[in-house]
Amino acid sequence: MAFDPGARALNLPAVAPQGLSLSGQTEVSELGRLLEELEELEELEVSTAPPIVWQANLQWRQAAGASAQLWLHLRAQAGLPLACQRCLRPVVEAVEIDRWFRFVESEEVALAQDDDCEEDLLVMSPQFDLLHLLEDELLLDLPLVPMHGRCPDSLPALDQPEAVKPNPFAVLAGLKDKAP
Ligand SMILES: [Zn+2]
Repeated sequence: MAFDPGARALNLPAVAPQGLSLSGQTEVSELGRLLEELEELEELEVSTAPPIVWQANLQWRQAAGASAQLWLHLRAQAGLPLACQRCLRPVVEAVEIDRWFRFVESEEVALAQDDDCEEDLLVMSPQFDLLHLLEDELLLDLPLVPMHGRCPDSLPALDQPEAVKPNPFAVLAGLKDKAP
């Protein structure tokens, strides 16, 4: 499913009083910076990645003694193909986003309020790029050390008990040596 180009240029001040609900699916290949992070892998792997499924809810909330504030609830699920840091083969890592943001009128206000509030702040814009924000969040949540739970076709490794179990005959020999 192709993404809605409108998600790249949302007119936030014009969002109706009841808010706005958007959802979509975005191919990894549409997000250039994310794609760069995945470039360790062959192109084939990236092109077979499932699309990123996202949902965005914009809603105005009346704050006491202040004008209404616009909030965004962004949720997304992605399975991103990364290079396993042990075997270097592709491993699909699940990344989930579930975050709230509040819009403020300017960069100055965002800087001034950032330390005093728990929520993340964004600057109001008549051409807000929702997919750019989605990409930012996915980049922040990428696993630092992607790794298979168990690498495919790996050599018998140290974590296999058989490999470290001592040979019973060697144990016997050791007992004999210790005998009086
Ligand atoms: Zn691996």
